[in-house]
Formats: sequence, structure tokens, C-alpha cells
Amino acid sequence: MPRYRLVPTATQEAVLRDHCAHARFVWNLAVEQQSWWRPGRASAPGYLEQCRQLTGARAGYPWLAAGSQMVQQQALRDFAQAMANYFGGTHDRPSWRKAGRDEGFRVVAVKPEHVRRLSRRTGEVWIPKAGWVRFRWSRVVPAGVKSYRVTMDRAGRWHVAFAAVPAPIPGPGNGEVVGIDRGVAVSAALSTGELLHTSGLTARERGRLLRLERKLARARRGSERRRRVKLTIARLKARETDRRKDWAEKASTDIARRFDIIRVEDLKIGNMTRSAKGTRGNPGRNVRAKAGLNREIMRSGWGLLALRLEDKAPGRVEKIPAAYTSQTCSGCGHRHPESRESQSRFRCRACGLTVNADVNAARNIAAGHAVTARGGDGVARPVNREPQLLLQSA
Ligand SMILES: [Zn+2]
Repeated sequence: MPRYRLVPTATQEAVLRDHCAHARFVWNLAVEQQSWWRPGRASAPGYLEQCRQLTGARAGYPWLAAGSQMVQQQALRDFAQAMANYFGGTHDRPSWRKAGRDEGFRVVAVKPEHVRRLSRRTGEVWIPKAGWVRFRWSRVVPAGVKSYRVTMDRAGRWHVAFAAVPAPIPGPGNGEVVGIDRGVAVSAALSTGELLHTSGLTARERGRLLRLERKLARARRGSERRRRVKLTIARLKARETDRRKDWAEKASTDIARRFDIIRVEDLKIGNMTRSAKGTRGNPGRNVRAKAGLNREIMRSGWGLLALRLEDKAPGRVEKIPAAYTSQTCSGCGHRHPESRESQSRFRCRACGLTVNADVNAARNIAAGHAVTARGGDGVARPVNREPQLLLQSA
């Protein structure tokens, strides 16, 4: 989703901050209600019921009532969508939002005249209670904008992202199949042998980040110096995120254009990221190692790439169960744990095929035959063990 820098006036910024606080407040209320739910209990309140409760809450909190009802209702609707995504197995469970970290709200029911251009580089959008807020017209604004999301990143910068469902990209029509493996050393490996790297921070920027983090540890709490260091760190991290998003955008477009069928590992990133910690009764094993790996995977931009591929090539992305893809020879099918000699090298114990380990896995994924311990039948089946949440429409 293309983002644009929003440049509110000081007065407008105060309104935007209120919207963020309200959206966060109702979102967290919804998270809390959901957390009481256990299998076997009557279902947690759905969107409609929550909207009724919101009306009640607004009557009780003048602070909430002073805000925009649309912004607050939309936060509930976003939460309902997040729960649906969670039950669909594609996303992590919606969690508590922290002030200053996950700040944002959505404006819906947008009319075409709510986004307009002022000059070559400036546009403005209509935001409830804030009025016309300017943004940098840094690239084409998609036609048919239905909603927009306003966010503030940790560096305190405001953005607006216009939601127009991306037009699906047609495949080449030649039946070409590609397998993609998430890498740790590389961001993604294609069965064609290509290794894709996301452009994160440069070595120099990484060094700088490390030094800043040490500085932060030494800075006195509440000091001006600490605040400044924190802001600089946030800016560096925001830069990394921007680059990763940019990379996922370009790589997904390229792949969607070149191949008809795109096979990816059926990896539930949400689950992985969550599983590291475990729960109180059942603490995770190898927590540190797993957390490290998860961080690497998120940083590699793989999750983002997979999501964008599904947007741009709807119906052309197939998820392949990923067991043993890294131990099985893509040449002869022989499986042996020692065939994967190192992080990057695969050498088959049976036929001697030597190939980059991630590319070998990508080829297995492309063939769709990396399935079970007994050896698969080459058929990819959708894995969907979790119940689907019926989204109430309103
Ligand atoms: Zn072999």
C-alpha cells in the first residue's frame, strides 16, 4: 500500500493524536474481551455487539465521546478483521497496542473529493475533526480510494496510506512454476537459482545503530540526551522498515509477472514468532535461539513478500507443506539429514548433486513434493486446521 508523508499543522496533530488514542483504547478493550474467551464458552462479543458497547462507553467517557465515532467504530471493525485473519491462520493473534508504538486509525466511507491535489508536490485529505490535512504527493495516488489509514511511526512521522485493492498482476500465461524458499542468509531463494536480498541497513548504518543503542543504555532516564538518542534510533529503524517494504513490493511484482504458479513454503510466521515464548504453563524450548531465528525471518522481509504475492497473484499462490524440503535432494529425491552440509551448501549423499541449500529447497517447493516423512505424492493440499471465524457484516 503506497504511503505518503502527512504534514499536519500543530493543531491538527493534536486531533490526530486523539484519534490514535481513541482507536487504541477501543482496540485494547476488544483485545481484553477476546482474551476472556476460551473454547467451549459462549463466543466473545462480535463486531455488532461491540459497537453497541462502544455506544455505551461513549456515554460513560466524555473523552471518548468527543472523538470521532467513525474512527472508533473502524478500530473495532479492524479488530474483527484481525481476528478473522488469526483464525484463518495467516496472521498472529491481535494483541495489545502500546502508546507511541502502534499508533494509527482508519478513515472510511471516503468520497472521491476527500482526496485532492493542490500542486505538483502537495495534496490534502479530509480527516474527521481535523479537516484538510496536507500530504506530500510523492507518487501517483491510486484511483478509487475507499479508505485510508493514518499512522504515526516511532520516529513521530505521520503517514497516510490509501487503500485501493491492488489490481491483480496477470501471469505470463506460459505455465511457468516457481518455488520460493525463505532464507535466513538471503531473503528468499527461487527455484530458478536466484537469491534475493532485501536491502536493510548498510553495514555502516548497523554499526551506528549498535553505538546508539549502547549510548541509550548509558543515558539517564528522562534526560534530554536519552530522548534524542531514542529518536535517532527510531529513525534508523524506520528507514530499515521502509526499505524492506519497498523490496517486498518490487520483488512480489516481479515474481507475479514472470511466473504463473508461485509455490511457497506453508510457514506460519505468526505462529513461529509467537511459539518462541511459549506460555506460562508450557514455556518454549530454545527460546533464545528461536526468537533469534524469528527475528531474522521477519527482518528478511519474507513474511511481507508472501503477503504481497497473495495480493498481486490471487489464486496463483500455492502453499506447500515444508517438512524436509531442506534435507531432500531436488535431483533424485533422496532424503538424508546430512545432505545439508551447512547453512548454504547441499550435497546429496546418493547422487552427489551439489547446490545452494536454499535453492535446493526452493526446487522441492516448486515441485510440490516435499511433503511427508514417507515421501509425498506430489500433491499440495491446503492446510487448514483452524476454525474459520464467521465475520459478522454490518
Ligand atoms: Zn540426489
